[in-house]
Amino acid sequence: DQMDRYCVFGNPIAHSKSPDIHAAFAAQTGQQLLYEKRLAPLDGFFTAVRGFMAEGGKGANVTVPFKLEACKVAQALTMRAQAAGAVNTLHFTADGIIGDNTDGAGLVADIVDNAGTAIAGKRVLLLGAGGAARGVVLPILEHCPAKLLIANRTVATAEALVQQFAALGGAGVVSACGFADIEGEFDIVINATSASLSAELPPIPAGVFGPATLALDMMYGKEPTVFMQFAAAHGARTRDGLGMLVQQAAEAFAVWRGVRPDTAAVLAQLRAAL
Ligand code: NDP
Repeated sequence: DQMDRYCVFGNPIAHSKSPDIHAAFAAQTGQQLLYEKRLAPLDGFFTAVRGFMAEGGKGANVTVPFKLEACKVAQALTMRAQAAGAVNTLHFTADGIIGDNTDGAGLVADIVDNAGTAIAGKRVLLLGAGGAARGVVLPILEHCPAKLLIANRTVATAEALVQQFAALGGAGVVSACGFADIEGEFDIVINATSASLSAELPPIPAGVFGPATLALDMMYGKEPTVFMQFAAAHGARTRDGLGMLVQQAAEAFAVWRGVRPDTAAVLAQLRAAL
């Protein structure tokens, strides 16, 4: 009999770690499935998805640059995908293609479960207001922080996010500002800007960090990012985005298979292979 098939669509896709992560999850949970990476042409994402469905695919992950287009290939979106305005997980069901987004839930699971840091009642600073930042706002608010400040280079973009989510956070919980206007210390600081990609640091005051601060960069690599180095130099605990990557995959696996794998061993395995 045929094994259930999944894949990740992206362009480029060669360096994706998702096939290794899902193979490890399948082994751990005793599930029979195949997960491959697929390069979709920049102008051929819909055709690639339809083709994979026709071949009997059961679902797919979606990465750069197709997360926005993936909203349109889906017949229905989950609430968290609507809130994120982006889809990273497609589930092919009898009722059609369901678009979901597990990035934000993955980040929150990494903070709460892997880093052992509660969000409830805490002061959270989110740096950036692009796709990655937008996707984590709803999952963070669901954990009831005391404050969520969204700081961005382009302040208007952060203000638009506040408008979108203000009603969900409760009065005065969500607010926006520019990097230079950030005031006070925070319990959790999340770098969701793409500045680390070019080894740049968002120009934030060092006073946001304290000995109890968790500083998390969504980016990951062999070496700590400039943001992690800056945070560590000012006493914060640091974390990169590898845990988020594994947790968003675990969430997607749960959507497809109904069982949520343990992530600790898989994260350690990926870390060792960086
Ligand atoms: P976008 O292009 O949508 O947004 C980029 C954001 O970064 C904007 O807020 C932009 O500000 C800001 N920015 C860009 N350059 C600088 C700079 N030099 N200084 C300060 N701010 C800057 O990107 P994404 O949101 O999709 O991705 C952001 C990061 O998150 C990437 O590094 C990506 O790799 C990572 N990521 C990690 C995941 C994981 O699983 N670990 C999952 C998803 C993303 P402005 O609005 O002013 O342009």
